[in-house]
Formats: sequence, structure tokens, C-alpha cells
Amino acid sequence: MSDIAIYWFRDDLRLNDLAGLTAAAERGPVVALYIWDEKVSEEWRIGSASRWWLHKSLAALEAALTEQGIPLTLRSGNTATVLEEVCRSVNAKAVYCSRQYQPWAGQLEQSLRDSLSQHDVELKRYPGTLLHEPEAVATGAGTPFKVFTPFWRACLRRPDPQMPLATPTLSPCPTPVQSETLKSWNLLPTQPNWAHGWEDLWCPGEDGAHAALEQFLAHHVIDYGDGRDIPSARSTSRLSPYLRFGNLSPRQVWHAAQASKVFEPEASSATDKFLSEIGWREFCYHLLFHFPTMPDEAFNPKFSYFPWGTDQQRLTAWQRGQTGYPIVDAGMRELWATGFMHNRVRMVVASFLTKHLLLHWREGESWFWDCLLDADLASNACGWQWVGGSGADASPYFRIFNPIAQGEKFDKAGAYTRQWVPELQSLPDKFLHKPWEAPTEVLAQAGVSLGENYPSPIVDHKTAREAALGAYATLKTLSV
Ligand SMILES: Cc1cc2nc3c(=O)[nH]c(=O)nc-3n(C[C@H](O)[C@H](O)[C@H](O)COP(=O)(O)OP(=O)(O)OC[C@H]3O[C@@H](n4cnc5c(N)ncnc54)[C@H](O)[C@@H]3O)c2cc1C
Repeated sequence: MSDIAIYWFRDDLRLNDLAGLTAAAERGPVVALYIWDEKVSEEWRIGSASRWWLHKSLAALEAALTEQGIPLTLRSGNTATVLEEVCRSVNAKAVYCSRQYQPWAGQLEQSLRDSLSQHDVELKRYPGTLLHEPEAVATGAGTPFKVFTPFWRACLRRPDPQMPLATPTLSPCPTPVQSETLKSWNLLPTQPNWAHGWEDLWCPGEDGAHAALEQFLAHHVIDYGDGRDIPSARSTSRLSPYLRFGNLSPRQVWHAAQASKVFEPEASSATDKFLSEIGWREFCYHLLFHFPTMPDEAFNPKFSYFPWGTDQQRLTAWQRGQTGYPIVDAGMRELWATGFMHNRVRMVVASFLTKHLLLHWREGESWFWDCLLDADLASNACGWQWVGGSGADASPYFRIFNPIAQGEKFDKAGAYTRQWVPELQSLPDKFLHKPWEAPTEVLAQAGVSLGENYPSPIVDHKTAREAALGAYATLKTLSV
């Protein structure tokens, strides 16, 4: 059979290792389609920073397809309507795509299957975003896992993920298909262009993803075990936005990492540690799939009764990196300036918001959603609930990160903090993470004037800690 197929790109913006695209190419000429349908993800419309990555990834995909003589068709509007229109315009009998796992995805895919079938069009859905499908991993009792370690052990007992597929040879559809321009979607910021300079930091798209993966495995994975907690060390892969948009598949990461162990056996345990973080990504998806309310509701129902505060000034200070706690402010400013934040610092700022400021984890989740290039419904919700204490396998609520100790431990020489909080550039290491303890003459010598060019702490650490524990104690008596 050789008839026209539509390949509907979603969070899989690449040509390599795409089972659905390979199958579509085997069927016949392919129309490569991306649909901009903001309403499909309900209140989780793609955030501002992620739009930047999306634009750049689509541009890279378009360029890669053009090399094969295939245009990328861009259409905005209701997904079902667009798919029906494009199928009709080229007389396509099948739509191929990768599966998604967000709470709305299953229902969307089922309703598309039903509506397309009325026009004699099949919807063919393939895995592609995960190493293991969420239904394929279960406890001995057949239930979903809620704890990471046994989940990952169960994953490791499964057969190895299949080897990645090569880019298929695509043949173009003889009938031209009407397309919009990427520019007309206005995904990039303009007035102001707050993403100015991001091209120097990131290279969205498949080529950039592979370069980042190779660079990491060749030079940095060896330090991952010790270095992954040091925000100034650049020891982590920074692959998260590539994985989020499917510029790279986890199977490609898995197999490249396994192969690198053969060439560099001394990096084996660090590589396994790195792969277990890919495992955390799998776990987050496993949880999201089985517990679809995770982005909106506390996993532990007791936390629905937590006495969260509503102080807007505190929230604004946190968002702007003006809390007076240097490591927290450094993280929030890194996020704003680069669309990224190191994992250790994500945990510190998340703990600070939910415990020191007693603000709802959903406030942080939503700010991250807008500001992160890797904003991912599963990992973001899971990360916030983990730190906030309400999640599956969460850090216990009473584990309150001390922002001073965290700074002193993980940014001892202060390189990270000084980069993002230049007001404190000249403060000696001893006081960098607690400038309020510095003697007046030390502050003056460093050009720091607390309350003027750098804020005094918005809350006192000890008092805030006690308030958080007090608020937490109110949950203990609940019988939920
Ligand atoms: C409050 C909070 C919010 C977060 N929000 C997101 C988010 O929206 N999107 C996102 O991709 N990650 C999120 N994370 C997880 C983690 O911080 C990032 O994945 C990681 O910092 C990305 O950097 P990297 O690629 O250098 O990671 P590496 O350490 O190199 O890890 C490799 C890959 O494993 C995955 N990974 C690593 N750690 C985690 C984790 N804890 N949970 C899930 N996956 C993980 C990522 O895909 C990452 O690219 C969040 C963590 C916290 C604490």
C-alpha cells in the first residue's frame, strides 16, 4: 500500500528515533504537520519561556525536513478540525503521532480516533517519549508505584529499551498543503525581548540535543556523582528542555550512555546515577498518568487543609530574587535570565517558598511553568509536591532546607551566587550566604548596603522554620 499519511508532530520535535514517523514513511508520502492549539492543554497553556524553545525547535525541524524536500505544515486552531481538514485536502487515510500522557491526552486521542474514523482515517499512535510505558511498570499487586526506588528497580528488570531508530527517508506529498508561518504565531518575546542572548546559551532542536548529549558524556558525566549538586560546576547534562520537547528521545540518551560506559568504565557508576535521574523523569510520568490530578491537587490529601498564606509581597520578592537570602535570589535570577535553574537550587527555592514563606506550592509551580524552558507538567508538579511534602515519595515536610547552610555547602566559594547576585560580589565568603551577619565595616568595604542595594532577609530563618513546623502540626490531627 502506498498512500499519503499525515505525521502529526507533538512533543517529539525530531526526525530520529520516531517510530510513528518511520511507520508513516513506510506507508507512503508524508505530510509533516504541527498544530498550534493552545486550548488543548486546558489551563496548562504553554508558558512564555517554553514558547521560545518551541519556536526554535520548530524552526530547526523545518530546516531538517527541508533538507529531505518535505515542508513542515504549520496550522493553528482546534486539533480535530485541523486534522480533518488536512486529511481531506490530501486525501490521507492515516494520521501518525507519538502518544502523550498529560491528563487531557488520553481523552483527546480517543476522541480524535472516533472523529477521524468517521472520515475513514485511522489514528495511529506510537510510544516515543518514555523508556517504559506507564502501564508496563507495576507493583507485584498490579498497582502503580508511589515510591521511586522500587519503581526504578522494576524498570531496570525490564528488557532494555529498544535501540533508537534512524531517520526515515521521507517522500513528499504531491499535493501542496496550506501552511501558516512560524513567525505569525508570535511565540518569541518582542517588547521587551527578555530572551535576548538565549541563542548563546541554548541550541534548541535535534542537532543541539545531540551535541549537548555528546559533550556531556564525553566530558562531564565522570563528575556527575559528586558535581551534580554544585550549581557552578556545570556537571549536569542540561538536557531537560531537549527531552521536554522531544528534540531527543530518552532511548537515545539511554543507549548513548550505556555505550559510553564501555569506553569509559571508570564513569560507570556516575553514568548509572545520571540514568537514574532519567528514571525520575519516568517516575514523574508514571505518577502523572496514574494520578492525573497531580498538577492541581496535593497527592497526600491532608495537604489540601494546609494553612497556606497569601502574602503577595512575599511572592513577588521570591519571583524577583529579592528575598535577602543570596542562594535563593541567585536561583530565581538565574531562572529569569536563562530559562533554567540548577536542580539543587530548584529544591532550595521551592523549599523557601513553601516553608519559609508558607506560600502554596502551586504558586511556585505556576511561576516555574511560565519561566522554565523545560517546563514539564509531570516533572514540575512532581518536583513541587516532592519539596512541598505533599507528593508521592516526598521529602518529609519537616525537612526544611536551611538556605544559609545550603549556600555554604553547595556554593562554598560563592561562584554561583556572585554570578547572579553581583551586588554581593565583593562580600567575603564567610558572609556571602548571610550578609546580615557581616559587620558594618565589612559590608561597607564590599559596597553592600542592606535594605538599599540588597534586601534584608524578608523573613528570619529560625522564626520562619518554627512557623512552618507549627503550620505542619495542624495537619497531624486530621483524620483524612
Ligand atoms: C521544584 C522543581 C521543579 C522542577 N520542574 C521541572 C520541570 O518543569 N521540567 C523538568 O524537566 N524537570 C524539572 N525538575 C527536575 C530537575 O530539576 C530538572 O530535570 C533538572 O534540573 C534538569 O537539569 P539537567 O538536564 O542538567 O539534569 P540532569 O541532572 O543532567 O538529569 C538528566 C535528566 O533527567 C531528568 N531529571 C533529572 N532530575 C529530575 C527530577 N528530579 N525529576 C524529573 N526528572 C529529572 C531530566 O529530564 C534531566 O534532563 C524540577 C525539580 C524541582 C525540584
